[in-house]
Amino acid sequence: MFICKAVDGTCKKLTSLDSLGNGGGGVTPPGPTPGGGPVTIKFPVGINGRNEALDVLNIQVALIQVGPANGGQTPDFAIDGICGPKTKAAIQKFQLQHFGWKGCDGLIEPGKQTLAKLNELLGHGGGGGIPILGTGPGGAAKQALLPATPAAPPTELQKGIALALKWILAAQTNVISAIPYVNSKDTPGPFQVFGREFRMRQLNNHFLIDKTPAKMANTRFVLKTFDRMRQVFERPGGLWGEAAFEKDPLNDNTVFAYTWWGGFFKGGQHRVEKQHKIRLDSIFLSPPFNPLIEERKAFTIIHELAHFVGHPEFIDDHAYNFQGQMKKINNLPPHLKLLNAESYSNFAYEVANGKPAPIF
Ligand SMILES: [Zn+2]
Repeated sequence: MFICKAVDGTCKKLTSLDSLGNGGGGVTPPGPTPGGGPVTIKFPVGINGRNEALDVLNIQVALIQVGPANGGQTPDFAIDGICGPKTKAAIQKFQLQHFGWKGCDGLIEPGKQTLAKLNELLGHGGGGGIPILGTGPGGAAKQALLPATPAAPPTELQKGIALALKWILAAQTNVISAIPYVNSKDTPGPFQVFGREFRMRQLNNHFLIDKTPAKMANTRFVLKTFDRMRQVFERPGGLWGEAAFEKDPLNDNTVFAYTWWGGFFKGGQHRVEKQHKIRLDSIFLSPPFNPLIEERKAFTIIHELAHFVGHPEFIDDHAYNFQGQMKKINNLPPHLKLLNAESYSNFAYEVANGKPAPIF
């Protein structure tokens, strides 16, 4: 099912796009470049490790940052804080490349050679700092992960896409920094940023995490959703080619954008609509998208991405932050907040900008 963001800002569900027109072409926005600081872990990560969520997250990020040429992973490797078979295999692959079979126990321990090698490859002598933990005033996240740095002057379209990626990374960083606090009691410390209330503030504002017993499961759902959004930008051949974000081939003037629900999981599939092959694994940006201000573009892209990556339950539209709908969106119960596309754009906006998203 296609889901269209109409020019009135609401989404419409369509089984077919047969009301739409004609056009063509793709976009080639600039790619993100890797960044980061020294990697630290508190406890062992990997086979038989303690596998604390934040430790696992740090290793997953590091494996992506060192890249496949150095025995690491491609950016579509999931950053979810769970040390499953893929993460364990990724650790072993890294160790195999650098230490051979003898050093390939699948376990990364604080202060040991695998961690030292990761830091060496990342240009850090080792120790000190957690690359993905930084949060600044107002909850704005430090762009330690993969900041978007345009290589050439971006087009209007590309600006919106690049900004969306920045917000998504800020959102993901914010969720990651909350993970150690999700199941803890409040921990007022010497600095506000180390307090639970601060770390959980935006998650609670937009997803009511503390209003449900499934705190960690729901937090992970949010993290996974933002991580899949990040992966959309990184797919092989990806965005920066003819994937992910495309100019609407039907040139529809009634919508900002459209995509296939759960299209993230429909790689390579397409449907024929109006004699055009429409990919199910893309997000299409229609002509009315172009004149939108950059912020509104990024907001719309994240909204669409939520529909696109939502899984196993679809992320739907339960309320928008429109004038007149604020009561509705504010009063959604936790499970609907979690499955509401606008929650994700609102969260990402607020985390990245340190203030609530505008009411449209
Ligand atoms: Zn929608």
